[in-house]
Amino acid sequence: MKKTILTGLRPTGNLHLGHLFGAGQNYVKLQDEYEFFLEIADVQALTDNFDNPEKVRRNVKEITMDLLAIGVDPNKVHLFIQSRIPEIAELTVFYSNLVTVSRLFRNPTVKSEVAQKKELFGKDGESITYGFLGYPVSQAADITIFGGEVVPVGDDQLPLLEQCREIVRKFNNIYGDILKEPEQYLSNAPRLKGLDGNEKMGKSLGNAIFLVDDYETISKKVMGAVTDPNKIKKDDPANPDICMVYYYHKLVTPEDELKAVCSECKNGSRGCVACKKQLIENINKLLDPIKERRKQYEDNPELVDKILEEGTIFARNRAKENMKKIKEAMMIDYE
Ligand code: ATP
Ligand code: MG
Repeated sequence: MKKTILTGLRPTGNLHLGHLFGAGQNYVKLQDEYEFFLEIADVQALTDNFDNPEKVRRNVKEITMDLLAIGVDPNKVHLFIQSRIPEIAELTVFYSNLVTVSRLFRNPTVKSEVAQKKELFGKDGESITYGFLGYPVSQAADITIFGGEVVPVGDDQLPLLEQCREIVRKFNNIYGDILKEPEQYLSNAPRLKGLDGNEKMGKSLGNAIFLVDDYETISKKVMGAVTDPNKIKKDDPANPDICMVYYYHKLVTPEDELKAVCSECKNGSRGCVACKKQLIENINKLLDPIKERRKQYEDNPELVDKILEEGTIFARNRAKENMKKIKEAMMIDYE
């Protein structure tokens, strides 16, 4: 029996390098070995985009095409839309009894996201909605309704997984041992930094290289990346460890080339402009085949609809089966 994976993405924008190196490459790596449910989390996206439904709707298809473009194989992975699995919403209601409001307020991911969304939730989070505060509960339902055992994610998700495990333990203590505690699966770039040196490359932070960016956009972004501020002249020696250009070279540049990048930077024989140009070229080498694969889906949007339809039907059936067991355990199985 294959183990089950559940993970998800919010349709709030296109995928960027952070998604690719932080999580997406693991999806592709793990898709042969696991039964894999991959959720387009539209309900979760609405918790902080409830006033912008067009954005969420548009990005469902955008993000699905991005996933197919990086090599997610629809014959191996069940790609589905969260809102079309009403059992998730139902289970969220049941789980909401098993978590305290103060615990949700203390969740580090919720805390940092509320702090980033002052416009929406107020300076000190005083206008936070019930829905946003509760999204970790809904995420626990996402994972467990499919019996998710392994969850490939970036490290910003770890407090949410811990919250999920707490809910599972509480459920099992009260209603019997029927849910599985999920484990995280991290990549070796679990939190890719932004071009500006920010701790996280983010969709909305203006510091991301998107997989769909064209050559010119990528050039402009890389040319503006933060480098060692002590390097003033072209032939000044510099410290690659504090340079965002070297940071990305480490991801996309072949090993022998990378060694030269590092030593030439340190001894001052390489200028930042040449170094950035080489990085731009290597990013394009990585993204070209991804864009090519994406084009096939852009030209055949009905194929994307079909993949989502089939994945959603499969996922819904699994969710119904598991919901039956959950309701029996909770003594609300009247049918
Ligand atoms: P949003 O701001 O809407 O939450 P996001 O960029 O955080 O968008 P998600 O859809 O929430 O993207 O996350 C999808 C997956 O990508 C998650 O597993 C998340 O941990 C991972 N991820 C997102 N950004 C990064 C990053 N900079 N480095 C590593 N992993 C990342
Ligand atoms: Mg996120």
